[in-house]
Amino acid sequence: MNRKYNFNAGPAALPLEVLEQAKQELTEYGGLGMSLMEMSHRSKPVERMMEETQQLLADLLGLPAGYQVLFMGGGASTQFALIPMNFLTEGKVGQYVLSGSFSDKAYQEAATIGETAAIASGKADKWRKLPDIGGLGAEERAAYVHLTTNNTIEGTQFRALPDAGAVPLIADMTSDMLSRKLDWTKLGFMYAGAQKNLGPAGVTVAIVRDDLLKTSADRRIPTILKYATFASNQSLYNTPPVHSIYVMKLVLEWTKRQGGVEEMARRAAERTGLLYETIDASGGFYIGFAERGDRSLMNVTWRMQDEELEQRFVREAELAGFEGLAGHRSVGGLRASAYNAVPVRACEALVDFMRDFQRRNG
Ligand SMILES: *Cc1c(COP(=O)(O)O)cnc(C)c1O
Repeated sequence: MNRKYNFNAGPAALPLEVLEQAKQELTEYGGLGMSLMEMSHRSKPVERMMEETQQLLADLLGLPAGYQVLFMGGGASTQFALIPMNFLTEGKVGQYVLSGSFSDKAYQEAATIGETAAIASGKADKWRKLPDIGGLGAEERAAYVHLTTNNTIEGTQFRALPDAGAVPLIADMTSDMLSRKLDWTKLGFMYAGAQKNLGPAGVTVAIVRDDLLKTSADRRIPTILKYATFASNQSLYNTPPVHSIYVMKLVLEWTKRQGGVEEMARRAAERTGLLYETIDASGGFYIGFAERGDRSLMNVTWRMQDEELEQRFVREAELAGFEGLAGHRSVGGLRASAYNAVPVRACEALVDFMRDFQRRNG
């Protein structure tokens, strides 16, 4: 087998063990004479698989009582619209922290639905640094505060959740969910498209506190767009993306075997530590994009002296077996996305390549 060092931003690397197990069970699941993909979503095996996945996620995240785990479709981008539809009630304002292009998209989408306000923005700094978010939730009319915890494209991250007081904090954790312990007392709602840290594309996890479900239930919006509908039907109101949920379950089991979120946090620090040290020790050959204090432990972004050199880096890296290192088109440069399933040795190999490339081109 010739697997590449996969630094894709999303969809992204999955643990090999997970792919092997999915392959094994693809044609016949649990001795039941058919694939899980061929079973009714109303059948016991599918129901059980969904329940076990919810439970695993709750255990890994240390989820307290009073929250529901939902499995939805449409990706994180659909949540950008569903959040204001479900929670932005009459006379209220949806407050947004703008810290990167995904948070900006969430904000723009909400503005088509109701009254919104940007309460902090890093746009003027080209998203290289996180905006100051002291005094969150001070506005009396705030329906919620929306925050993107990890800015996938720019490579910055809020390492700790802010305190929004009585205002529900809503977090887009698409690119750093399951990478660290969470303080649930601060969170009203969180969501993540699975294709970065959790599994394959197709399923989006939403975790919602009961008081917000009540708000959702009372809204006059289509049934299929209500979180309350998913909650009261165990995410089986309509056909869920069964196969994606199943592969996510395998990823969660793998995460547990590895030592859970504490171990994921330790590995993330080790992986990105290697990369940031190499950037910082390069004497300006590699130039970190994100402000040092705000650096992400998931997506490492950097530039080089000129674009020609950056393109050569990407080309040569590809030949050496590294995939996905070109930066997002809005930032340029390079980006290494090192999610949970990326082994530390892939980052060791990458820093070897970076040092060698500098020796040859510096
Ligand atoms: C990738 C990403 C999204 C978009 O996810 P889709 O599932 O493609 O809609 C949104 N927010 C963040 C933080 C992301 O990293």
